[in-house]
Amino acid sequence: MAGLPYIVGNWKMNGTRGMLAEARAMDRAAARFPKVQVAVAPPATLLYRVRDAVELIGVGGQDCHAKESGAFTGDISAPMLKDAGADFTIVGHSERREYHGETDADVKAKAEAALAAGLAVILCVGETEAQRDAGNAEAVVSAQLDGSCPHFDGAPEKLSVAYEPVWAIGTGRVPSIADVAAMHAAIRNRLVGIYGEGGADVRILYGGSVKADNAAELLAVPDVGGALVGGASLTAESFLAIVGAAASLNT
Ligand code: PEP
Repeated sequence: MAGLPYIVGNWKMNGTRGMLAEARAMDRAAARFPKVQVAVAPPATLLYRVRDAVELIGVGGQDCHAKESGAFTGDISAPMLKDAGADFTIVGHSERREYHGETDADVKAKAEAALAAGLAVILCVGETEAQRDAGNAEAVVSAQLDGSCPHFDGAPEKLSVAYEPVWAIGTGRVPSIADVAAMHAAIRNRLVGIYGEGGADVRILYGGSVKADNAAELLAVPDVGGALVGGASLTAESFLAIVGAAASLNT
């Protein structure tokens, strides 16, 4: 697996200009962790301002529309994210899939639009608790990958997959280390099935209640190439503790 550990903060629908101080603090501290790739995805209203406020860390969107422009009130296209200074965008987050009815086909179209606009993509997949309890977690995630992975033959760092069990997001619950390892191995297997050899280099992030006290253990799992962090990315202090855990594993 290629690349530095990748720690990405997803601010979701949180943050006004007051949060810029947190972004600046994250950026200053990132200089102490050159062996970790750090990024944040603020709400779209802050994207341009965060871009302007930071130098070292990546900045991205949380979603994009599949079309470049048009009559889609309230939506934001990938070229618009790029124009506002984004390096990447998240697509297929479970909150988009659940609350906005996004299908795998929608997510695939968004990912392809983002790549075409020159953005890197973080593609989210993950099972619900009922699907895990029924013993279907790997089958569900494999099907999501089959349906939502973009056509892609670019540089591996342009595409990351985030495994985010829906039941672990914002709940303080995390899967066992064995379950994370098994799922990341299954995702790797599927990515190689989809992309051939190139699939071996796509980074696979873990997301779902990553905090300072569990980050080191989760990030040490084989094929966990980083973390997508929600709640704990809202302050520089809690986010940087996770970045520090990644750095200490990658000395
Ligand atoms: C997320 O929503 O991407 C996420 C991982 O959230 P949290 O860290 O709060 O569980």
